[in-house]
Amino acid sequence: MAKAFNTSYDVAIIGGGIGGLMCAYRLHEKNPELKIILLEKGNPLKKRLCPVVSHRSEVCVKCKNCAIMEGMAGAGAFSDGKYIISTEYGGWLTDYMEGAAVIDYIEQADKILVSFGATTERYQPSNELKKLCLKHDLHMAQAQVKHLGTDSNFSTMDAMIEYLEHHIDIHTGTDVTDIDKSSHEITCTDSEGTHSFSASHIVFAVGRVGSKFFSAWCNRVGIPLQNNQVDVGVRVELPAMIWEDFSKVIYEPKIIYRSKHYGDLTRMFCFNERGSVVTENTDGVITVNGHSYRGADRKTENSNFALLTTKRFTQPFNNPIEYARHVASLSNLISGGSILIQRFGDLKLGRRTDDSRLAASTTRPTLKAVPGDLSLCMPKRQLDNIIETIEALDHIAPGTANYDTLLYGIECKYYSARPEAEDFALVGCKNIYAVGDGAGFTRSLSQAAANGLYVADKIVKE
Ligand SMILES: Cc1cc2nc3c(=O)[nH]c(=O)nc-3n(C[C@H](O)[C@H](O)[C@H](O)COP(=O)(O)OP(=O)(O)OC[C@H]3O[C@@H](n4cnc5c(N)ncnc54)[C@H](O)[C@@H]3O)c2cc1C
Repeated sequence: MAKAFNTSYDVAIIGGGIGGLMCAYRLHEKNPELKIILLEKGNPLKKRLCPVVSHRSEVCVKCKNCAIMEGMAGAGAFSDGKYIISTEYGGWLTDYMEGAAVIDYIEQADKILVSFGATTERYQPSNELKKLCLKHDLHMAQAQVKHLGTDSNFSTMDAMIEYLEHHIDIHTGTDVTDIDKSSHEITCTDSEGTHSFSASHIVFAVGRVGSKFFSAWCNRVGIPLQNNQVDVGVRVELPAMIWEDFSKVIYEPKIIYRSKHYGDLTRMFCFNERGSVVTENTDGVITVNGHSYRGADRKTENSNFALLTTKRFTQPFNNPIEYARHVASLSNLISGGSILIQRFGDLKLGRRTDDSRLAASTTRPTLKAVPGDLSLCMPKRQLDNIIETIEALDHIAPGTANYDTLLYGIECKYYSARPEAEDFALVGCKNIYAVGDGAGFTRSLSQAAANGLYVADKIVKE
């Protein structure tokens, strides 16, 4: 039976990802008297089971709630758990706060994660490797990185949620469908029907998966939104040895290349050392991502990374998310509802990879995808940028441009539209805030966590 609701709370947090959880943790820490409710539309952490990751299905079966993206611990739950201690990437909090304050909050969130069992090991940035990149017009971002690991990240988040369950009301399987901007009445649905209650302070922490709902709500209540960027590309998979000189030293190479032909930026990021390629389902569109576990028994022979090219649209087009969804949908269409895979060599020769060509590949895929031709669904501009960048990366990690390097498509990162906000309080609303990826403020675990803590401090002060 679903849990009952009180008629009112001091704070309601929508979304049980790291942003929402950190916000709840800090609120309780600073004022244990506060009545806090956290609403999460997905499953409890231990009930989040992706049929593909758990080997019950070879292809995405489009679950109602995608276990990769939704549920307690949010999109980060099955992530590789790279915790980035830097302001060079991972979000845009520095548009709102001083860089030093962002780092301070990232460190505070790290201490909390460590108190629930996260590793204390850190990879340090390397000037030597940065110099090597610069010699080839490649630009590597510098950061301290912690590798929490998909499995350890899961147990850390589990411990944190268990602690919070003793102090706040957590409702899973509960989809928030509306909020009255003036009365603060919150409407939600769960297995037992529709409920409503109110809260003095409301925090939207809905993540990327909730950005459509959040943008629609902002449009309805008249909060201006801004968004014009989208990243579209592929997941690259190759033998782990090729990038070992980087991954053993800094764990995660994040490298930007400006293509000579178009002058567009293409980013290599989300590196998974000896990991696996996985699918994710965002609102019915299947895209790719990557994982890697800390446990030696779950390591593979391959590493994988995202290679995405950034497009900022200009007037009159203002719907980059739909653009990316269309590109990704095309690959779903061609592959019969799945993901395409192609060898780099076949792509360059302009021929599809088929079953027999894939069987001949010396790099064995970690995801069962449909062999095909990415040039049939990826726009020429993005495809040219990706080919040029792979060839540039081959200078610093020879072997990257090998014939058998595997490309999976489509991977895309949509950035949620950013609402107009002052210090994370939504304009024209009283005591309604937004944090994390769903509001387009962040795109990493560390910045979403920092954002949650910061807004909690702000609420407590108020
Ligand atoms: C496969 C994968 C790998 C990743 N790897 C890394 C990594 O290694 N390092 C890194 O820094 N970042 C990584 N990321 C990104 C990282 O997970 C996100 O930046 C981070 O989780 C954002 O936190 P958040 O709290 O803003 O949102 P989320 O973690 O997305 O949480 C939002 C939650 O809100 C819930 N929700 C949405 N709408 C509603 C609603 N209407 N009602 C109730 N609940 C709702 C969702 O179900 C979700 O659980 C990865 C992401 C993915 C998908």
